[in-house]
Amino acid sequence: MSDCVFCKIIDGELPASKVYEDDTVLAFLDIHPIHPGHTLVIPKNKNVRNIFDVPLTDWQAMTAVAHRLAGVIENAMKADGVNILMNNRSHAGQVVDHPHIHVIPRFKGDGRIQNLWHSSAYKDGEMADVHKKILSELQ
Ligand code: AMP
Repeated sequence: MSDCVFCKIIDGELPASKVYEDDTVLAFLDIHPIHPGHTLVIPKNKNVRNIFDVPLTDWQAMTAVAHRLAGVIENAMKADGVNILMNNRSHAGQVVDHPHIHVIPRFKGDGRIQNLWHSSAYKDGEMADVHKKILSELQ
């Protein structure tokens, strides 16, 4: 974990524009924002990588901070909406292997929704198959 950029921010070895901090969670401005005000919410737990191994207590603390910051960031940036998202594993776009929730202010007409969201359609019968697979994995 020594090359974990966010661990270095937690340890104060790298600078960050912190907007929130408590014993469990840290939030700071993303250095390459989709829009100014784009903020990352991370756990201080340095032994976890993403949604699959983050303990529920850390996750609940992270989401509580993201919930609060959503309104704070929308107001502060005079935004028209906010995206909350998280990339998990490299094929889902995760670059930094430390769990982080993105809080991204959005603006009317900013045209970026197409970049985030390419929707598709189910083939005949596919939705029912998918539904079954997920329900069976939940057993
Ligand atoms: P992801 O692709 O979900 O792993 O996002 C990683 C995010 O971390 C990117 O949006 C980067 O711009 C951001 N990032 C990387 N290094 C730093 C840093 N030192 N300070 C703030 N944000 C960073």
